[in-house]
Amino acid sequence: MISPVLPTYSNNPLGFERGEGAWLITAEGERYLDFMAGIAVNALGHCHPHLVEALKAQSEKLWHTSNVFRIEGQVRLAERLVAATFADTVFFTNSGTEAIECAIKMARRAQAVRGRPERYRLVTFEGAFHGRSLAAIAAGGQEKYLEGFGPPMAGFDQVPLGDEAALSAALGPETAGILVEPIQGEGGVRVVPDALLQHLRDLCTHHDLLLVFDEVQCGVGRTGRLFAHEVSGVTPDIMAIAKGIGGGFPLGACLATEAAGAGMTKGTHGSTFGGNPLAVAVGHAVLDVVMEHGFLDRVNATAGQLRQSLLGLKDRYPTIIDEVRGTGLMLGLKTRVENIALVEAARQEHLLAVGAGENVVRLLPPLTIGEAEIGAAIGSLERACERLLAAEGRAAQ
Ligand code: PLP
Repeated sequence: MISPVLPTYSNNPLGFERGEGAWLITAEGERYLDFMAGIAVNALGHCHPHLVEALKAQSEKLWHTSNVFRIEGQVRLAERLVAATFADTVFFTNSGTEAIECAIKMARRAQAVRGRPERYRLVTFEGAFHGRSLAAIAAGGQEKYLEGFGPPMAGFDQVPLGDEAALSAALGPETAGILVEPIQGEGGVRVVPDALLQHLRDLCTHHDLLLVFDEVQCGVGRTGRLFAHEVSGVTPDIMAIAKGIGGGFPLGACLATEAAGAGMTKGTHGSTFGGNPLAVAVGHAVLDVVMEHGFLDRVNATAGQLRQSLLGLKDRYPTIIDEVRGTGLMLGLKTRVENIALVEAARQEHLLAVGAGENVVRLLPPLTIGEAEIGAAIGSLERACERLLAAEGRAAQ
């Protein structure tokens, strides 16, 4: 018999009643250290007082009107994002997928209003993940997500990351732009080298294509910069964000330059809930904290400590951990065992992490963690590795 909740997720019996900072607590009072943060969503941990206050205050004033009316908080949040980034304009959504959907439509439309409607295709990269709508699974190109859903939506040309020849071959008279995650999350915490981002920028500028960044997972302070691409000095024309910007409240956005957004005129796109007063109130609160002087410096310092500790762990358990990868607090452990075995063993040690492609265990803790949490996480990972070694030993006997 089918479960009341459509069984598209694993039926993990573990669930939580409340959260405090980097900790999740079950109804029985068991505490788990959350180095998964809702897959890079709870950027400021659970129940951050400034976010709780912002949500409470807004909930007593106004929840929802409609985007047919001016939403003051939305206008101000857009202004803040514009002031902090390459962008001139912002469309608000409820999720990463919707932000990507807007980005894809925008890239196509930008070409159409330049008099080139035949340019509708986007070049994307193997290992990418852009969400689960029909357009997003076609963009991601992963067979496991496409299978059984009919012909993939047309308009995406996938190339291996870093394959120069395949990239050149994929560009053609119908190409509208290039869509890339500056750090592939689901793909295995694969950092796109700065030189490659620069090359994509140069190609787009040269061929008058739109460069679209998906910073749904790597954005909003996670890498120690407000946005991951900043370190490269390369700017996109369009960027999708979500996850961290809502800190746990459903909020996403598609940011664009004036030229890229030129086709998105009145009536071309919309969302009932996108950027409603509750969501943008929380978005402001997240930015208040992340953009506070010194916050990102602390993220960088914490990230350095965590990375060092993980490298130490790799040296102590070389048969389990092969590589520490990633940047800031978007880190991955490439494992020599099944990545899921380490995720499970860590969970038994009350540390939550999440698997990714290329046999990687992702660590995406709240940006607010400190030394105590790093120490606790390393302790759990150590015990998890011991568990795996003991199990291996038993299997060998
Ligand atoms: N893009 C990236 C890079 C993501 O990691 C995700 C979600 O994991 C998405 C898009 C889709 O976002 P959402 O699940 O909020 O629709």
